[in-house]
Amino acid sequence: MENHSAERVHCLIIGSGPAGYTAALYAARANLKPVLYQGIQPGGQLTITTEVENYPGYPDGVQGPEMMVHFEKQAARMGADIRFGTATKVDFSIQPFKVWIDEVKLIESDAVIISTGASARWLGLESEQRLNGYGVSACAVCDGFFFRGKEVAIVGAGDTAAEEALYLSKLCTTVHMLVRRNEMRASKVMQERVQQTPNIKIYWNSEADEVIGECRVEALRIRSNKSGELKTIPVSGFFVAIGHQPNSDIFKSWIDMDESGYIKTVPGTSKTNLEGIFAAGDVQDKIYRQAVTAAGSGCMAALDAERYLSAKVHA
Ligand code: NAP
Repeated sequence: MENHSAERVHCLIIGSGPAGYTAALYAARANLKPVLYQGIQPGGQLTITTEVENYPGYPDGVQGPEMMVHFEKQAARMGADIRFGTATKVDFSIQPFKVWIDEVKLIESDAVIISTGASARWLGLESEQRLNGYGVSACAVCDGFFFRGKEVAIVGAGDTAAEEALYLSKLCTTVHMLVRRNEMRASKVMQERVQQTPNIKIYWNSEADEVIGECRVEALRIRSNKSGELKTIPVSGFFVAIGHQPNSDIFKSWIDMDESGYIKTVPGTSKTNLEGIFAAGDVQDKIYRQAVTAAGSGCMAALDAERYLSAKVHA
């Protein structure tokens, strides 16, 4: 790659969920003239969720996509330069740090804030992959509409699965929910809502064995992990809601991570093992993973970047 085509910036933010936009807001107000690249999914995971009831400041709740529009507008109003594009490669060996956008555009930055979030995990079944987009989905809010008046299945027992099962129960005749243990991980309130919804049928100690269908999902074969018994449920859609993995692949050879790929930060800060590179939001948080904690860590990253950059100027 030719260096002469590089654009030089002061503070580059990679990713656009609550963490990235909050970092952009704070960095813009600190006059760092931040440039933010939104990534493949502008607005991040909240753009594929429904009602957010637990973000402070919205007494009546808010739709996830709408909230992300608010975040973006606020950061832009403060002067953040928000762009469409995805970081595809980095070179953090020397300063300024190099980041390639969509493989061609080179940005050189004095400080980088990584806020690339996390993505949906899949079960790993061949049939799940083959029928992905043909009845298999990891986003009820995006695809539930296609299954109005039909039967669907969902796997997972966390808050996401509970939320998606409830969403689907309003559209579909029956939602068959597979829970691999004899209890759910979801918060108590969500568990209660799921269990009190008449058209959500829970299968305890059950796992997806195979998605059945030639060109479209026609049924799901499930297996009891207690008895080994197999059972086939006719469904038109199969939703996978089993958690997420951090979007940290391109940083792997540069930044310290845990065994799951979550970026390690110095406790109480957003600092990574490299001076001048900061991380915020779900890419470095496997415990809390909330919009509000992501936003808080985005604020920390901007403040850490601002201190780092001003110390550099005065060094
Ligand atoms: P999660 O809490 O990690 O739950 C993943 C679920 O999938 C678990 O029940 C897990 O089962 C199950 N699972 C994992 N691999 C599986 C497999 N191979 N086969 C079958 N089941 C499998 O993920 P999440 O639900 O996406 O939630 C992530 C975080 O976001 C959580 O902290 C959650 O509280 C938060 N969240 C909050 C809200 C909200 O507040 N409105 C909404 C959504 C998410 P086990 O339980 O057996 O491990």
